Amino acid sequence: MVALVQSLSHSRPQILSIILAALLGLLVIYVAGHSQYHILHDAAHDVRHATGFPCH
Ligand SMILES: [Zn+2]
Repeated sequence: MVALVQSLSHSRPQILSIILAALLGLLVIYVAGHSQYHILHDAAHDVRHATGFPCH
């Protein structure tokens, strides 16, 4: 464990790659969540029209 911490604090490129990987993961989650929101929104919209509920 101490060796791991020492190797992390001594190798900045590894920390940078970890940060980049984390940012990429957050970006993927953000994009996936956004497209899922649109799918849910479109589905709710279709249901509203199918049931004859006036929406626009
Ligand atoms: Zn509509």
